[in-house]
Amino acid sequence: MKVLPLLVFAMGVVAWEATAQDAQCVRERAAMVETIRAYARSAAGVLGQQGVSEGVLEVMAQTKRHLFIPERTCSVAYADTPVPIGLGQTISQPYIVALMTQLAEVAPDHTVLEVGTGSGYQAAILARLARKVCTIEIIPQLAETAAKTLRDLAYDNVSVRLGDGYDGWPECGPFDAVVVTAALGELPPPLIEQLKVGGRLVMPVGPGYSTQQLTVVEKIAPGKTTTRAVALVRFVPFTRSQN
Ligand code: SAH
Repeated sequence: MKVLPLLVFAMGVVAWEATAQDAQCVRERAAMVETIRAYARSAAGVLGQQGVSEGVLEVMAQTKRHLFIPERTCSVAYADTPVPIGLGQTISQPYIVALMTQLAEVAPDHTVLEVGTGSGYQAAILARLARKVCTIEIIPQLAETAAKTLRDLAYDNVSVRLGDGYDGWPECGPFDAVVVTAALGELPPPLIEQLKVGGRLVMPVGPGYSTQQLTVVEKIAPGKTTTRAVALVRFVPFTRSQN
């Protein structure tokens, strides 16, 4: 009978610690958003006067990045740097997540494909802006963990699939936007095929573990695209399945 009050007390302490940590996270997340805003202003050449839109910044301010990284530490999660998520992979730098989201021009009625789920963070950002997000991850353990995180946080409009994203996900498309978060030397034709006219693909093009060109491909008519290089970035390699 004495166990119960102790348990309630312990649960209270845990809840208090979680709330205190969340309050600290709010401040650190707000600082992260200001850093992104400042970077975006200096990139006005590629993004236009507006930089990263208030809508994208708002979503970056609402999404709890610390819940997508292994240690769940705010000071690590909200620094503007990539963070290791295990198995040699990283969650991208917040500014790059914001930049890619901005370039994808996601709207509330959009269906979006992401290739390279990783932690699920970029998918969560896209899911707050789009109607539906389909995301593909090639490493089973990461696909499983990301799917669980997204499910636990009630991102009900995200589907995670295990596989090689080179071939896209035709049953989920066609897509208004495709965001690829791993680097490859060429644009995968199936991803362009699965884009709607007016849709755009945002992807780092170049060798893995080196510098790549963040590239935006816009489908302007069936079989017709325009391509522009936007910024130099550094992503992990896009790997291909053996089968
Ligand atoms: N968007 C992620 C960051 C991903 S890092 C996030 O927000 O956390 C790049 C991811 O792409 C890695 O998890 C890697 O395993 C995955 N990847 C690499 N090649 C792939 C492929 N062919 N298909 C699907 N995922 C791939």
